[in-house]
Amino acid sequence: MTATKSMDPKVLNILKDKVKLIEANEKAIYLVGPINLPVRLFDETVQFKWYCWLNCKEVTDDFERIIEKLSSVNLAEFQQSSVLVHGDFEHADEALIRLHSICHTGDIFGSKRCDCGFQLKTAMKAIADHGTGALFYLANHEGRGIGLFSKALAYILQENGFDTVDANLQLGFVDDSRDYSDAIRVLKALRTKPVKVMTNNPKKLAALKKAGMNIADRVELWGDVSEYNEKYLQTKIARSGHLEGEGCCND
Ligand SMILES: [Zn+2]
Repeated sequence: MTATKSMDPKVLNILKDKVKLIEANEKAIYLVGPINLPVRLFDETVQFKWYCWLNCKEVTDDFERIIEKLSSVNLAEFQQSSVLVHGDFEHADEALIRLHSICHTGDIFGSKRCDCGFQLKTAMKAIADHGTGALFYLANHEGRGIGLFSKALAYILQENGFDTVDANLQLGFVDDSRDYSDAIRVLKALRTKPVKVMTNNPKKLAALKKAGMNIADRVELWGDVSEYNEKYLQTKIARSGHLEGEGCCND
């Protein structure tokens, strides 16, 4: 499993300009990309550039060392986040962004218990239509930060009368433990000009502002209300301070 021989110089040469070190509070974020990613979105194929990032305690610009370490760390056991970028994200005057928290049930299965899947696809389409933007897909944010297994337990509590906030609290979690700092560091590495933010969640706006990001505007993102998620969405507005109409498990 462990790589011991040094890397083929040809391979290293291909990769070295595609890995960027972002230093962050005595740790490192290694950002890899851009990678061409044509995406099927409704009835069309949209060209995105894809980047993925990895957190590491070791701060080095010797990427050979980092790449060699990967084979001995079982990364599939952990979660990595990524970002889809469209258009000239660094330079365009206007850009639309969304920080989207992973929702296994909503994004992958299309669950109607929340509106995450709808928000994901709608945000990607809005970014493509806008011409420039980025969708951050935050992998360690399942169930507002409680993880998938705990979210399954919380769903059972919800089927037995607890609302989405109380269900998390009953399981010993805070209602929302998500942290946006790494995503915002990556955002700042990709763009420093103002951004329009697609969200109904004031915590996301506050995190961006606190990190010094210049926010030009906020764009609401709502729809797909149904008998299955109506109560959920109302709870998020009433108890989690969401700004308008929706909010669901993960916005
Ligand atoms: Zn969801």
